[in-house]
Amino acid sequence: MEKQITTNQENSHLGLLCDIGELNALFAGSDDIEAFLQQIVILVAKHINAAVCSIYMFDDASQELVLKATLGLHKRSVNKTRLKIGEGLVGLAVKEGRPICEKMASRSPNYKSFPGINEEAFESFLVIPIQRGLENIGALVVQREETNSFNENDTMALKAITSQLAGAIENSRILMALHAKKKEKKRSLPGVVEDLKFIRGEAASEGIALANITVIDEGKPYQNLKDQTYNKNYTLKEFQNAVAKTEIQLEELQEQVENKLSGVASLIFEAHILMLKDKEFTGAMVKRINHGGNPPDAILAVANKYIRMFSEGLNVYMREKAKDVEDLARRLFDNLIGKEGRFVTNWKGRIVIAEDLFPSDILRLSSDEVSGIILISGGVTSHISILARSLQIPLVIADKMQLKKVPDDTLVLLDAELGAIYVNPDKKLISRYNERKKALDAVSRSKPKINATSFTKDGEQIHLLANINLHLDIKLANDLKSEGIGLYRTEFSFMVRSNFPTEEEQTIIYSSIIGQMPKKSINIRTLDIGGDKVLAYNDNIKENNPNLGMRSIRFSLSHKGLFRQQLRAILRGGENAGDLRITFPMISSIDEFREAKNQLKECLTSLKNESIPHFLTPKIGIMIETPSVIEIIDGLAKEADFFCIGTNDFIQYMLAVDRNNALVSSYFIPHHPSILRSLKKIAKSAIKHKIDLSICGEMAHEEKYIPFLLGIGIRTLSLDSRYIPKVQKKIADLTIDECNNLANKILKKDTVAKVASYL
Ligand code: PEP
Ligand code: MG
Repeated sequence: MEKQITTNQENSHLGLLCDIGELNALFAGSDDIEAFLQQIVILVAKHINAAVCSIYMFDDASQELVLKATLGLHKRSVNKTRLKIGEGLVGLAVKEGRPICEKMASRSPNYKSFPGINEEAFESFLVIPIQRGLENIGALVVQREETNSFNENDTMALKAITSQLAGAIENSRILMALHAKKKEKKRSLPGVVEDLKFIRGEAASEGIALANITVIDEGKPYQNLKDQTYNKNYTLKEFQNAVAKTEIQLEELQEQVENKLSGVASLIFEAHILMLKDKEFTGAMVKRINHGGNPPDAILAVANKYIRMFSEGLNVYMREKAKDVEDLARRLFDNLIGKEGRFVTNWKGRIVIAEDLFPSDILRLSSDEVSGIILISGGVTSHISILARSLQIPLVIADKMQLKKVPDDTLVLLDAELGAIYVNPDKKLISRYNERKKALDAVSRSKPKINATSFTKDGEQIHLLANINLHLDIKLANDLKSEGIGLYRTEFSFMVRSNFPTEEEQTIIYSSIIGQMPKKSINIRTLDIGGDKVLAYNDNIKENNPNLGMRSIRFSLSHKGLFRQQLRAILRGGENAGDLRITFPMISSIDEFREAKNQLKECLTSLKNESIPHFLTPKIGIMIETPSVIEIIDGLAKEADFFCIGTNDFIQYMLAVDRNNALVSSYFIPHHPSILRSLKKIAKSAIKHKIDLSICGEMAHEEKYIPFLLGIGIRTLSLDSRYIPKVQKKIADLTIDECNNLANKILKKDTVAKVASYL
């Protein structure tokens, strides 16, 4: 595989500006957001040799861009110079989401002069909008006295730096938004409650557990803080010690999550650390203490103000911030009064019932190896649910306060696949549970002999690759000798965090995955959100039919900035891959595939122009998931390097049956003649056009379908690695001849029943 061997030394801007380590060091050294921004403007001005460098941030409350830090303009203009979106060169760049470079700013019809800020002297003007995901965060501006002095190189360098800074700046923007007071209806929780023997809740993190329960009967962990007794006047010193202790704990937590999850997941706690360093947060507490307030009261008063404002926020992201403040305030409070923290019990092997939990609690419960969690409030898309999913803790949310009355040590069967809770389950239920559990445990405990390669009885090689959702899965894939990654579902690393990861953050994830599977084939699928995969921070889309809506490639193509960030990150992170493949999900036409490929081409060109090392020649493929591609399959095969058949969605769309709806699960029939004949057509086309072909839906590991799949010419299966031993064994029992014969017979049958008799 050809690789690009370049360094970015030729370009001094990039060499310096892309040094994320330097910026992070700066950030760690700053004790508040404004100081951080100020350090950035100094650094950027120095590197780019500009007389002026300023940062504007978008303020939700006033809907204005506010000058937050500057080097070169009058300091008094900070927080005073404000622009509407579209106003002046800065407002226009943000509105249109593109850099604007003016040789003589004062001559531009869009120039807006602010008397007294000392801007007139600086004619060369370059502004880069700062965007985080879909949101406008603000803008970075550089200016020089001499006219016409910025070039393409400067624009590129500043684009690189704004993309790195977006995450940190977004957090400070959120802090600014504290003053926003917007109304919103409270969310209500679905959930049908029947009786206390059986409770139907919402499955938030899959799995099943049978265990005795422990009720954490402390109500809302933050709300009950005000009833906490402390009959002592604390000192400022004690408060400062509590802040320091809190910071250490948060850093430890960050490290823990980072080890367990992917690098970016730890950013969930970044917000806590940022807040702890914020002048308006702990600073305001210190002020109260200096005015005679008792530190515990000061913590509550300031935290309450933030919580009130964030709870009234417009979107889920803002409301999650209120939870972050509660979590942080609770920790700070406990550290101040010397409480050992909320969880001193060991929860190993128990099912915990709680009214509410913080994200950090989930980590604690996970390290204690709880069997499952029942939450009485919350939402499936909350951080708690997302974290529970990543940590593989079964979690059901049930809006039923009486659950708190269930006596400790009662036996509960938690079926977090269906969202069912059985209190004191009967023997029949328990034995059914035990059977399922035994089957699952057998798979995970047995250490079967696995070969690095798989062959049929007559010597045909079948490639077994792994489907990967999170970093956690890679270890198992390696242990079970998967030949590579046949499908990396990138959306999960988007789901375990609180905002769209930046290009830099994604680059780190992809490169770490590739680092764990060096020299192997790695197939990274671009974002497949929508349907049942919801991003908590992207709740502005409400759809009646999400599976038929703004899903998958449709989302990427309608948010091209985000799409390109991801593609660039895949190419950059994949720099050292043995064989890097990029797959576009849910493609429904040749036109759509071309549009996606064009974006990829643009990214390859821009990375080349920016001299950023990346993988030069990725193979480009299509997830075959929609029935619309069948009639145009040859056209697609001519333009793609490979097909990856996503049978889960293919069956859902072909048979018009919701893959997540238990009520219609009997209609989800992989062996429906239409499905099997379509699979044959796809395989035939791939073989004719000599492109790679794999199956990566659940059908790939179902033993009864494997002979048929081999019989129609499939030679690569991508599956959850835990099934690799079983599938390898099945393959070894088959000959290609018998598979071909079986497939030919089955393809002639036109009813589900007749096909079933052959399987
Ligand atoms: C599929 O649809 O079969 C597939 C592999 O993709 P996902 O399950 O992630 O939708
Ligand atoms: Mg799919």
